Amino acid sequence: MKYKAILLIGAPGSGKGTQGRIIGQIPNVFYFSCGDVFRELSPRTSLGKTFMEYSSKGQLAPDSLTVDLWRNTIQAKTQSGEFSPEQDVLVLDGIPRNVEQAMLLRDSIDPLMALYLDCPDKNQIIQRLQRRALRENRLDDANVEVIENRLKVFETETRPVLDFYGSDLICKIDSSQPPLKTMYAIAHEMSRALPDY
Ligand code: ADP
Repeated sequence: MKYKAILLIGAPGSGKGTQGRIIGQIPNVFYFSCGDVFRELSPRTSLGKTFMEYSSKGQLAPDSLTVDLWRNTIQAKTQSGEFSPEQDVLVLDGIPRNVEQAMLLRDSIDPLMALYLDCPDKNQIIQRLQRRALRENRLDDANVEVIENRLKVFETETRPVLDFYGSDLICKIDSSQPPLKTMYAIAHEMSRALPDY
């Protein structure tokens, strides 16, 4: 079966995690953050080492490894009963992050909508990430060069994912607004596109 999914797409610091966690509180909505799953890996495992190697430079982890990790984690969450594919819609934060991953996921997800969190002010993004670096002790947020590289990777690799899904699925949200206003805009779009939730 294909998992019903809402995709969260946006540059680092655009608010995917903040908004995704809020949406994940809605009954029958299950929030999945690819970055969180990577960060939970022990740095002693080979997968954890590979993740550190790429993320510390602001690069994406290899596609098949990422999609395998996604699949295994979703299966584990299904077996533990945290996620019920028949009832729940998956909110995917940070995956797919390029067109190759979107193709690898094609047989596994049924995207209902894609929320594109757009924060055009680069300085605001950098400020948000540096604040998060202190709060969450994230090395990839601390260094401006690494941040610049992640923003570049978003433009070259992730932005084409918007075209892959096409304008019918994409809802653009101005996430330079404060979190509550952004949440309001998302709730409006979601209740329009998914009246049953
Ligand atoms: P952000 O969106 O703020 O950059 P994430 O927590 O989503 O942060 O991702 C942190 C890092 O984890 C990325 O820079 C990348 O190295 C790795 N990562 C997360 N998701 C993916 C993915 N789908 N494909 C490859 N690498 C990923």
